[in-house]
Amino acid sequence: MAIDFYSRATAGVATLNPYRPGKPASELQRELGLTDIVSLASNENPFGPSVKALNAATEVLTGMTRYPDPTGYRLKQAIAERFDLAVDQLTLGNGSNELLNILARILVEPGQGVVYSQYGFVAYEIAARVAQAKRTVVAASGFGHDLAAIAGQVDETTRLVFLANPNNPTGTSFDRSEFSAFMQRVPEQVVVVLDEAYSEYVEPEADLPDGLSLVKEYSNLVVTRTFSKAYGLAGLRVGFASANPELTDLMNRVREPFNVNCAALAAAEASLFDGQYLERVVQTCRAGKAQLLEGLSHLGVSVLPSQGNFLTLDLGQDSTGIYQSLLREGVIVRPLHPYDMPNHLRVTVGLEAENERCLQALKKVLSC
Ligand SMILES: *Cc1c(COP(=O)(O)O)cnc(C)c1O
Repeated sequence: MAIDFYSRATAGVATLNPYRPGKPASELQRELGLTDIVSLASNENPFGPSVKALNAATEVLTGMTRYPDPTGYRLKQAIAERFDLAVDQLTLGNGSNELLNILARILVEPGQGVVYSQYGFVAYEIAARVAQAKRTVVAASGFGHDLAAIAGQVDETTRLVFLANPNNPTGTSFDRSEFSAFMQRVPEQVVVVLDEAYSEYVEPEADLPDGLSLVKEYSNLVVTRTFSKAYGLAGLRVGFASANPELTDLMNRVREPFNVNCAALAAAEASLFDGQYLERVVQTCRAGKAQLLEGLSHLGVSVLPSQGNFLTLDLGQDSTGIYQSLLREGVIVRPLHPYDMPNHLRVTVGLEAENERCLQALKKVLSC
């Protein structure tokens, strides 16, 4: 008799909705025969990678018969230097997503609590389900994290709180004083994960907490960063966590020894010190965001306030048809149905011409 694997899976996993990534351009090309496609679906960097990163990665590929450095020595030294951290506070991950999963595996026994916000980054739910945690999803306020409500939901079973600042898919953020009030309220036994995947894009005036500088202050704070977004290395998979040395030791025991490959290690190290590249990426994003905001306001489309490299559009009606019509125009954006935001579409800020294509396509589709 065949085994019913769905009934064998743990409860959290059996009822898990699969992650739905943005539609790859190659898939749209196959389906509709389009060639000139603009992909604004996955918050990727619209530039190529830093030339320094590309050269560093290419150079190490001749050594690919060997395992990568299991400690990531050079990259950790570079991160420590760049952000004024100690090496014993650092864990490297195969993307920062892996680090979120590791934290749930280390800290949460089945039935213990994981708390995160409604519309919070989707990886938190998956990590909590795999850990068989008791999940508490706290109602959002204006689609953003309601930190006071989140603190209010922390109880004696809670082991982990996941916060994204800015959050994806909403772009919303909380500021320094809100975060500090939150940390005062949360008991020290509860680990708070501050996911800063978009921190390079944040406007200084927004006064967001700088997580990496706060890790020394709060022993229960873990900050995650990634090379996938502003550093343009999404395809190589590398991110890092900064935390108290004891928690860092545990994380390093649990991660796979060779979780970050040789090309990713080399490219990330090189890109950390390519300040010019990062500056260009951030400036272009700022200009592109202004361009999109202006175009969208002409179209009468409202937008959530975003500190990321993306905008979340509220179309005031179910957005499925609009998403599909945009695909036929060769413009891929992200529908937010799977995140219970059926009226919203998420648009990654692209290069000027890509943003223009998106605005033109939206204009055409909305006037139909
Ligand atoms: C993209 C993203 C990540 C992580 O991406 P990795 O590629 O796994 O480093 C983490 N958190 C948020 C909120 C993101 O949007």
